[in-house]
Amino acid sequence: MGLFKTENCPICNKPTGALAKSSAKYNGLFVCQSCAKKLTANGILLIRLNKYSLDELQKITGTSKEDIQKHLTEVSSFQATKKVGNFIHFDDVNNKFAVPHTSITGAVNDLQIFDYSDLLDFELIEDGNSISKGGVGRALVGGALFGSVGAIVGGSTGHKQKSTCSKLQVKITLNNIKKPTVYINFIETETPKDGFVYKQLYGQAQEILSLLEVVTHSNTSSTVASSNNVSAADEILKLKHLLNIGVISQDEFDAKKKQLLGL
Ligand SMILES: [Zn+2]
Repeated sequence: MGLFKTENCPICNKPTGALAKSSAKYNGLFVCQSCAKKLTANGILLIRLNKYSLDELQKITGTSKEDIQKHLTEVSSFQATKKVGNFIHFDDVNNKFAVPHTSITGAVNDLQIFDYSDLLDFELIEDGNSISKGGVGRALVGGALFGSVGAIVGGSTGHKQKSTCSKLQVKITLNNIKKPTVYINFIETETPKDGFVYKQLYGQAQEILSLLEVVTHSNTSSTVASSNNVSAADEILKLKHLLNIGVISQDEFDAKKKQLLGL
């Protein structure tokens, strides 16, 4: 896939981009921040790494060769059928989605891969305020299935008056003990809301929410029906729901409906 141009961490062997490198070296190579954190947490002095064998360090960081091989196999078998920038990739064949790790140049150097069935909740957060939420977990908590899916949560009034945004992120909650939450960051520096950059990134964030919504629906409503023979009518019903909860616009709904009906 041409993903791995960067140096690999000498301990976990994962590709390590410029931003993910720690200052510690082992066998002349930079250890990734994730391994460095785990080692420090286990009382290992990073300046003394060379006193330890690779096996010992891998045991401490929980990065066995089998785990690494499994991850690499998973990455190479992931086939993105739909991408929203390098924010999230969907593999509709294997029912998986991936949140890429990108280097400082924006190149993808690793994929965090999750099963569709692990998706619980997702939420768009702007400067700490929840803009919209969706997912099956919330609906079940709320009682009626989908009763509260995608409910638009109003931010504070102060938030609405702000003309800039400093942080825009999608938070995804997963049914995964090792990785219960994953964040996709769209904006990390103060950005004017009336500009092109904000509008484009906000649009991509909304697109991701609607795709995650579709994934949640495919988990809950069509686990029996095979996803290949979902009828146009079913698709339209899903889209209608997305329209109702404000995830997609009337124009987008109309266009998609026409397409599905072959008009
Ligand atoms: Zn590492």
